[in-house]
Amino acid sequence: MLRFRVLGSGSSGNTTLVEGDGTRILIDAGLGPRELAERLSATGVDADSISAIFVSHEHTDHSRGAAGFSRKWGVRICGTSGTYAAAGLGAAEIEGYDVLEPGVPRQVGSLTVLGVPVPHDAAAPLAFVVTCHGRSLGHATDFGHIGRGLVEAFRRCDAVLVESNYDPDMLRDGPYPWSLKERILGPFGHLSNGDVGRLLEKGLGSHCSRVVLAHLSRKNNHPELALMSSEEALARGRRTDVQVTLAEPDGTGWIDVRPAGTAAAPTRGQLQLF
Ligand SMILES: [Zn+2]
Ligand SMILES: [Zn+2]
Repeated sequence: MLRFRVLGSGSSGNTTLVEGDGTRILIDAGLGPRELAERLSATGVDADSISAIFVSHEHTDHSRGAAGFSRKWGVRICGTSGTYAAAGLGAAEIEGYDVLEPGVPRQVGSLTVLGVPVPHDAAAPLAFVVTCHGRSLGHATDFGHIGRGLVEAFRRCDAVLVESNYDPDMLRDGPYPWSLKERILGPFGHLSNGDVGRLLEKGLGSHCSRVVLAHLSRKNNHPELALMSSEEALARGRRTDVQVTLAEPDGTGWIDVRPAGTAAAPTRGQLQLF
């Protein structure tokens, strides 16, 4: 049994709880430590039952609460040495910071976590594939284009969470300064709705049953646009067996990771609310 739920999504803070066979980890800690503990508690999960926090990269919407949560609850942090240095996660503050090597699986209890390098304007950012008893979740936010390594990793996954950050027209016409627009549009920025569509149309394995769109920009995207773009891409790829939903800024309910053919009947177009 492998399942996950998003606890926060977007610029206000990103965190995903993953649970498999009694082991719990967090991917990112972009919420403050207290807020994070409260959201865990609201789901019936004790903060001190978390085995590790895997930090994808140093940007504060992913790392803000990591050090404080680690200190308060005695949870180790796992990330690349680049993330460690860039986030200022001082060794004196965090005992047992676990340095991840991209491509080298890390076992945490019942979960195996693989870091996959992604192109983003951070020191050494990672996507993750979490596996438990043959079922795999792919988790990728904050990357500017889709590389071969990510596609190969995601093809093995039964469910994927991927950012669908912006609609290009909304971004171009929106309020951000040009320098920031260029950064977001660039190869080390963020993924557009159309980019996600290309990944979903051709990049999913035959057993993938579930897609969650996350990290939507509030200013440069509309949930309906992101959802429609992904649904159209799945239809083009003849993947009507894949259910796609959105992560709201304050999260999702539990989502089971199951191979295609074993999932509950799809409810296409339904927003994932509590
Ligand atoms: Zn981010
Ligand atoms: Zn980032």
